[in-house]
Amino acid sequence: MVERVVIIGSGPAGLSAGIYLGRAKYNPLLIEGMQPGGQLTTTTKVENWPGIKEVMGFKLMMDIKEHAKASGCNIISDTVVAVDFSKKPYKIFTKLGKEILAESVIITTGASYKKLNIPGEQEYFAKGVSVCATCDAPFFQDKNVIVVGGGDSAVTEAEHISHFAKKVTIIHILEELTAKDPIKYKVMENKKIEIIYNSVVKKIEGDGLKMTKITIEHQKTGDTKVLSADGLFVAIGMKPNTDFLKDNIELDNYGYVVLKGKTVTSKDGIFAAGDVADFTYKQAITSSGFGVMAALDCQKFLSKK
Ligand SMILES: Cc1cc2nc3c(=O)[nH]c(=O)nc-3n(C[C@H](O)[C@H](O)[C@H](O)COP(=O)(O)OP(=O)(O)OC[C@H]3O[C@@H](n4cnc5c(N)ncnc54)[C@H](O)[C@@H]3O)c2cc1C
Repeated sequence: MVERVVIIGSGPAGLSAGIYLGRAKYNPLLIEGMQPGGQLTTTTKVENWPGIKEVMGFKLMMDIKEHAKASGCNIISDTVVAVDFSKKPYKIFTKLGKEILAESVIITTGASYKKLNIPGEQEYFAKGVSVCATCDAPFFQDKNVIVVGGGDSAVTEAEHISHFAKKVTIIHILEELTAKDPIKYKVMENKKIEIIYNSVVKKIEGDGLKMTKITIEHQKTGDTKVLSADGLFVAIGMKPNTDFLKDNIELDNYGYVVLKGKTVTSKDGIFAAGDVADFTYKQAITSSGFGVMAALDCQKFLSKK
């Protein structure tokens, strides 16, 4: 049996594509992967989903999953380990040993934030520790916030957080920021932002409910220092979840899917949407809309056949 369309990933992009293709009677098959509901299930409050002032990330995603199922999207719990897009029908191989054939595929496997892998990072995740300033900065009004990193994302996040926080401290491992000029100098001149160079965060501690302090270590002297902190943003980069696609479609140097049109990839009938192809916006609502665009492009492709 050849599926008309297989959606890989169950974040906002994949499930939104599933709702549209299900309602259009294309019987989409969605493979949900190791994180059903995607990244948003790892956070607490979401305050920027239009129409809902406040909702827990997990609840929002489970509601969208139910919506996709009710629309006719068939969701299976499995993970894709490899694909063969060299000829049609396309082949998708899963962890549970299935070989799925498909006329078209929508890739919505998202991206994963790189972690510090230090004590306290996991324990205080969403209890002060965050990875998304656009999402969480407003929760840190008049607080002391740490940003870890020194590249474009880190300084952009620090600048954004400085509109809310009392003080922002950037902890950077090198002796110079690696971010580009205009934003770099804007941050260096910002009175609310302090930059500590040549240092790494060694641990995050708190009272069990929220983080309260961090320990940093100077890379050259080995000296350690404790800083009180209400929040810590990890901004050391993201890795798109595309290892299973290697050599099958075009990826850029960082592993993001390269788009030839709005959602069209380098292979006929293979579409991509959401964070896996977007290193700019990285929001639930943009991913959701992106997924809808992929679904509509896919419908057009299937209806022509
Ligand atoms: C802690 C946190 C808080 C956030 N808060 C907000 C917020 O408040 N508001 C906001 O708009 N955005 C927020 N974001 C960002 C938002 O969650 C993402 O931009 C959005 O989830 C991206 O959606 P996506 O569908 O592209 O991918 P993801 O949500 O990353 O989903 C990817 C999906 O692909 C699946 N997958 C991966 N690999 C495979 C594979 N090999 N086989 C099968 N499936 C696979 C995963 O299981 C997952 O279901 C937050 C992100 C984080 C991490």
